[in-house]
Amino acid sequence: MTAAVFREPGVVVVEGRPVPAVGPGDLLIKVRAASVCGTDLRISRHGHFKIAPGQHRVLGHEVAGEIVATGGPIEGYATGDRVAVTPNVGCGRCGMCRRGLNNMCPDYEAFGVSLDGGFAEYLLVPAFAVQRGNVFHLPAGLPFAQAALAEPFSCCLRGVQAVGVGPQDDVLVVGAGPIGAFTVMLARLAGARRILVANRSRGRLDRIAGYGADTLIEVGDRDLVAAVLAQTGGRGVDVAITAASSPQVQADAVQLLATHGRVNFFAGLGARVDVGLDTNRVHYQGLTLTGTTGSSNADYAQALDLIGRRRVDLSTLVTRTFDLADIADAFAYAASGAGMKAGITVGRDALEATSELEQAGARA
Ligand SMILES: [Zn+2]
Ligand SMILES: [Zn+2]
Repeated sequence: MTAAVFREPGVVVVEGRPVPAVGPGDLLIKVRAASVCGTDLRISRHGHFKIAPGQHRVLGHEVAGEIVATGGPIEGYATGDRVAVTPNVGCGRCGMCRRGLNNMCPDYEAFGVSLDGGFAEYLLVPAFAVQRGNVFHLPAGLPFAQAALAEPFSCCLRGVQAVGVGPQDDVLVVGAGPIGAFTVMLARLAGARRILVANRSRGRLDRIAGYGADTLIEVGDRDLVAAVLAQTGGRGVDVAITAASSPQVQADAVQLLATHGRVNFFAGLGARVDVGLDTNRVHYQGLTLTGTTGSSNADYAQALDLIGRRRVDLSTLVTRTFDLADIADAFAYAASGAGMKAGITVGRDALEATSELEQAGARA
């Protein structure tokens, strides 16, 4: 099968690999759609602490497809099922996992990081990931490409729920990429009074207007705090969600909150930085600062349900689709900020796939 494989920082190659052998309790998924995440780009450039030097890894964790083989009978799953897979597999034993927070498990495994991921024709879901609830059936009629987006969407759901958006709230989203777009949709769904979106450049702002943003702020060289205060009559916003990896944006977010405002630092900064937050403002204005990372399987179930019931429409989020063989172009497109999501499809001859699969079955 064809797979996009990380070999070392800066080196991702598309190569032929054997179809993974299916062991007892495993599921083999024929990947039908995947999408490129910032995490894929980061790993491709800088590697990951869970990928040892010299180790090769199939990237990709936003993925949906069809079960084509099972390692024996597996309760609840059968060949032909349309499924999506959540990336973070918790250990199942720690305090976080016990609370259903597999995204916070210190001892996690993850597809596209410590396990081979979805930028391949086939994805092997090991038995332990099946047992820990990482495989979800797709709602009827949901296209695979949208199902793949349920993963980043679920992270945004967690991010919005963490700051409790409601009908009285003016909400600012900083960053107009896919995460910003999902967040706008969710703030709208939560009944936000007004949604402002700030972004450095114009291009993505124009796209995001269609997802429910009321006010677009092109920051450029302007002061974000001043721009938001000007838009809100000096009051500031009740909720800010930072979907841009910038220390300045994090510091600004504390300055532009209204009294009792809440901020979620959604985007990480990568390396540790002293941001210099105005904690006096946090104290005297009674602000709430929080952060979220990833999503739990419970969040994902909610997200998939919202998408499946068409409470949100993700159909326009993938703005360009690439064949797996052109993964380098897909990464470049994702990094450019020209569109929203880069989709990946696996274009190939079905007959060839079948014979490969038979070989895999013979090995299993
Ligand atoms: Zn992702
Ligand atoms: Zn755990």
